[in-house]
Amino acid sequence: MYFIVTITSIVSINSQFTTLNSQLSILNSQLLTLNSQLKMIDTHSHIYGSEYDEDRADVIARAIEVGVEKVLLANVDTSTINEMLICHNQYPDFTKMAMGLHPTSVKEDWQTELRNIEDALRAGNKYVSVGEIGLDLYWDKTFASEQEKVLEQQLDWAISLNLPVILHIRKAHAETFKVLSKFKGKPLRGVFHCFGGGVEEAKKAVDMGFLLGIGGVVTYKNSNLGEIIEPIGINHILLETDAPYLSPVPNRGKRNEPANLVYVRDRLSSIFQINSQKVDEITTKNARELFDFS
Ligand SMILES: [Zn+2]
Repeated sequence: MYFIVTITSIVSINSQFTTLNSQLSILNSQLLTLNSQLKMIDTHSHIYGSEYDEDRADVIARAIEVGVEKVLLANVDTSTINEMLICHNQYPDFTKMAMGLHPTSVKEDWQTELRNIEDALRAGNKYVSVGEIGLDLYWDKTFASEQEKVLEQQLDWAISLNLPVILHIRKAHAETFKVLSKFKGKPLRGVFHCFGGGVEEAKKAVDMGFLLGIGGVVTYKNSNLGEIIEPIGINHILLETDAPYLSPVPNRGKRNEPANLVYVRDRLSSIFQINSQKVDEITTKNARELFDFS
């Protein structure tokens, strides 16, 4: 009797396992479908740098695996143009490029730098944006007034070429808004990359039609970025990594890469109380509207 009961239970448990297994495999295939629908765009990255020379193909494979469909490469100065072009030529469908002179590269030779950047920018229609450009008074204020001149010049180019700009602003929001106010009424558009301002700056940027680029910082415990962007709304947000910098939790401190966008995306999902798919959908739409990814 005992034996028969045991056998029956085993058969029953076995069939339950089979059912559970088939349910799991359905769930798995639904997850796969969902995953293939989730598409993110990393709107700011430097994966052309030598930090990725050993494993760039793996970095890109990991990004594609989690649903990153495109990465926008931002230039820094003359020294980075070539490596960026090489990376883009290797992955022409996966990458897009922005051309600009970064404020921390504005030094004694700023005029030569600016000429080189202009030559590159005007050489064909390879660039979808002027960037990264801006003001950085965090490290060094020696060339503060030159930085402003360089920024203005590049904003002029963006308007004449009808391209959006990628703004890098560090400890210089008031100064940047002062420069931007000179362009009032002009068709200037773009993103405050790695947005690091407060509530007022966020509102001001969005009122001017700019988007806010949000990356790893939003996942940091000591950051109040989540509270700042929550009232702004997801419709004004772009996803970005700024790889190799600013890796999100749980990879903080390590080399960043586009696949880490999932952690930024998930944090935004909890800030805005919408599901991950919605975050991807809206931020991808925002990126596509700002940059011409055709
Ligand atoms: Zn950058």
